[in-house]
Amino acid sequence: MTPAAIQPQPTTNWLPGGKPFIVGGPCSAETETQTVETARQLHATGKIHALRAGIWKPRTRPGQYEGAGEPALAWLRRAREETGLPVTTEVANASHVEACLEAGVDFLWIGARTTVNPFSVQEIADALEGVDVPVFVKNPVSPDIELWIGALERLDRAGVKKLGAIHRGFSSFDKGPFRNAPLWDLAIEMKTRVPNLPLLCDPSHICGNRELIPLVAQKALDLDMDGLMIESHITPDAAWSDAKQQLTPSSLSQLLSGLVVRERSSANEEFTDTLSKLRETIDGLDQDIMQRLAARMRIAGEIGAFKRDNNVTILQVSRWEEIIKTRSALGCAMGLDEGFVRDLLRLIHHESIRIQARVMNEVN
Ligand code: PEP
Ligand code: MN
Repeated sequence: MTPAAIQPQPTTNWLPGGKPFIVGGPCSAETETQTVETARQLHATGKIHALRAGIWKPRTRPGQYEGAGEPALAWLRRAREETGLPVTTEVANASHVEACLEAGVDFLWIGARTTVNPFSVQEIADALEGVDVPVFVKNPVSPDIELWIGALERLDRAGVKKLGAIHRGFSSFDKGPFRNAPLWDLAIEMKTRVPNLPLLCDPSHICGNRELIPLVAQKALDLDMDGLMIESHITPDAAWSDAKQQLTPSSLSQLLSGLVVRERSSANEEFTDTLSKLRETIDGLDQDIMQRLAARMRIAGEIGAFKRDNNVTILQVSRWEEIIKTRSALGCAMGLDEGFVRDLLRLIHHESIRIQARVMNEVN
């Protein structure tokens, strides 16, 4: 794994509003009145740090609303004049960047459909060369962390140092109840690979509906993300894009009030003592798990040698089915989640087969 060659500036230097940084606003700027009125109502909540509104809309199918284009930049400017909120919009090519810079848009974001394409990202990076404007990069549509990091690296190389990322979920066969599968592990991997990078979560595009947004927003904060981008519209049901997932400014305000912002850690002595004791227990248990796994894999190797000597195949489906059945029942009886037990067993079985295959093909 190549480490990310990015040196983003610490968030505190440039992210207005502190943590969590909240970006709210309509999916699309539709009219001047809708944009400015949404901004006013959002600002009145006192809980929003920046206004978002899409002007060039990348739509999956043609014929859907594709955005108001350049004239809407003046609406964003008016929204900022009236509320004092910094404004942000999505850019997908060099001419969008130029128009935004000309209009003084406060920060830019690159959308999920653009991050997947290194040519487009490079074109945007070239247009930003020598410009000191913050840029947030949404994750690519496909669950590919390298593409996401690659986009950030292209911008970094062009001299953009006020960089951030936005987790908006991924296309996946198994989306569960979501429009885009959150695949939280990838967001966590981004935090690990680029530790200083401000990472926002966009629950609106993950959920695709209003109901699940609070749950996803809370989970993002619990994972120590730096902020949220949430779509909000004065009349959500009448929105020209993403109607189902937008919230009125007052619902957004209610949602934000209900979120619990936890500390990264606590200086309280009792807390640190208890936490370190619990962590010691976890350390010990992890050692036991590793020892048990190593013992299990050694036996798998012995079975491989035994099968080889008796000319028997590695995979015996009936045995595997029996393992899944009995271990799932055992795990569930012990209070473990069935899906987790199955995933774990699949991993163990995969490794066990790999070891047996290696032993089987060794020349004795
Ligand atoms: C948007 O923010 O409205 C948008 C199009 O998002 P994404 O690029 O995440 O699909
Ligand atoms: Mn949208």
